[in-house]
Amino acid sequence: MPDIASNIISLKQQIPSYVRLVTVSKTKPVDNILAAYNTGHKIFGENRVQELLSKKDLLPADIEWHLIGHLQSNKVKYIVPFISMIESVDTFSLLNIINSEALKINRRIDCLLQFHIASEETKYGFSMNEVIEMTGSAEFRQLKLVRLCGVMGMATFTDNSEQIRKEFRYLNGCFKELKTRIFAEEPSFSEVSMGMSGDYKIALEEGSTIVRIGSIIFGERK
Ligand SMILES: *Cc1c(COP(=O)(O)O)cnc(C)c1O
Repeated sequence: MPDIASNIISLKQQIPSYVRLVTVSKTKPVDNILAAYNTGHKIFGENRVQELLSKKDLLPADIEWHLIGHLQSNKVKYIVPFISMIESVDTFSLLNIINSEALKINRRIDCLLQFHIASEETKYGFSMNEVIEMTGSAEFRQLKLVRLCGVMGMATFTDNSEQIRKEFRYLNGCFKELKTRIFAEEPSFSEVSMGMSGDYKIALEEGSTIVRIGSIIFGERK
């Protein structure tokens, strides 16, 4: 087992204090998560609901869970009672369902809008046009229990750092435009979640406020 505690401590020393680290624990067992938690770290990210649910009950209740993977609408109800942030909201209909489930228990859910910024076809997410259209609709203004806190994106999986930089810069540009045009009166709209193990340094240079990092803390996933 890698030295998770020292990995997380040294990573935090490289990240500015205004940036939050989401420790991505997908595929990793609960004892690995506890090793990170015992350094005082509280924010963890999982990409699959089933896996998140099975781990959560075995771990301290004050962990702040971020969902970072594609969320199926029929699974929303399982995470709404406890999730700290849903970073991977990728359609208007999903946002609507999150709001309906939130209404049932009267709990406000913090969400990020996931943008499609990579060149790969497979990655989920909004385009800027879709977000502009959504936020301009009357239906959108009815959503009382989802709080949009910013944007999230994943760069192309490539060694080409200039391409990665361009994609992150584009995402931060989308954030700034939305902030000015749509969310100027909403201080909570403030997050740009970008940067993983391979590209977080570029992401930080391009204005990231949340990095989501797994492998360099826990070791490679099998
Ligand atoms: C797996 C994953 C990460 C972390 O990836 P690492 O390369 O292990 O740091 C970050 N964000 C998302 C959305 C992921 O699915």
